[in-house]
Amino acid sequence: MIPITVVRIGPDEEALVLEVLRSGQLAQGAYVERFEQQFANVHGVAHAVAVNNGTTALVAAMQAHEIGPGDEVITSPFTFVATLNAILEAGATARFADINDDYNVDAAAMAALVNDRTRVLLPVHLYGCMADMPAIEAVAADEDLVIIEDAAQAVGATCHGRPAGSFGTGCFSLYATKNLSTGEGGMITTDDDRIADRLRLLRNQGMRARYQYELPGHNYRLTNLSAAVGIPQLDRLTEMTEARRKNAAALRAGLSGIDGLLLPPEPADGWDHVYHQFTVRVTPDARLDRDTAVDRIVAGGVGAGVYYPSTVFDYECYRAHPNVVLDDVPRATEIASQVLSLPIHQHLSDADVDTIIETVGAVFSS
Ligand SMILES: *Cc1c(COP(=O)(O)O)cnc(C)c1O
Repeated sequence: MIPITVVRIGPDEEALVLEVLRSGQLAQGAYVERFEQQFANVHGVAHAVAVNNGTTALVAAMQAHEIGPGDEVITSPFTFVATLNAILEAGATARFADINDDYNVDAAAMAALVNDRTRVLLPVHLYGCMADMPAIEAVAADEDLVIIEDAAQAVGATCHGRPAGSFGTGCFSLYATKNLSTGEGGMITTDDDRIADRLRLLRNQGMRARYQYELPGHNYRLTNLSAAVGIPQLDRLTEMTEARRKNAAALRAGLSGIDGLLLPPEPADGWDHVYHQFTVRVTPDARLDRDTAVDRIVAGGVGAGVYYPSTVFDYECYRAHPNVVLDDVPRATEIASQVLSLPIHQHLSDADVDTIIETVGAVFSS
């Protein structure tokens, strides 16, 4: 079986984790600080604030910008549920702008939803490819809105040389299956000193100096142990991403021209994709439907997954939620019924890539 994700932690991580264990400083400390500094450097921002996961990164970002009840947040309808849960946890109202063929939210559709209550544009850089940030930045500037980027899947991605997380307040996930992983973990990036300061307070019970509380906060802290797992991976990030790009190029070449199989669009000029997922679409002219295709590919020994089977709000608990607006998103609805992701990770061998191409080719031609 060729799995869709593989977690492989190497000797550098083992050595650093052992160093932390022996130091006795297991909770947030010097290793977290070092991890933050390196993460900020890689993403070209003044501040990176480590938190315990990507969902709390989004919640804390909204709290730092004082987003809450009565405020509307415009996001993508085609995302992992954490994006929506974070908006609701902040007490805000979620609105959904339709997506494009690149799977990312459309800037003009976002602009069309802006009203007096709108405070935030929250694009998601899905599958490792950044949304159209220059266009979204222009809408935010015109309408005086905050940008919070859900960059959970886009560590190291860029758009015209500007990294994910550098256009607004960037929220990253370091969950087990993400490109860079500490098991659980998150990171928030910003160039704004005031927001960074609020994030650090929110993360640590609102406390600046010992027992000096400035606002009601939380415990959102990351541990030194987690940071020790992340630091060596950050050193290898370019090489890990290059391996994913190479695999993507091979899959594109090997899977082109198959009836009913639509490859992910090539990133636009100036966009550097980090291929968290390689996601194809099974179109109506295929000989089989999407769910049958997934079953047969898996039966053939290749891990395939559906990210995501429906629009994010298309569940009873959200349809009935007073803070969810059921915006009409026909493209996202159609694409959710067609997507299928194939293994793309950096641990694939050339032989694995060949097997993926042969297996998928056989499923679509039989
Ligand atoms: C993984 C993910 C998150 C949440 O991250 P966690 O670390 O699992 O809390 C948020 N948004 C998107 C798009 C994700 O893929």
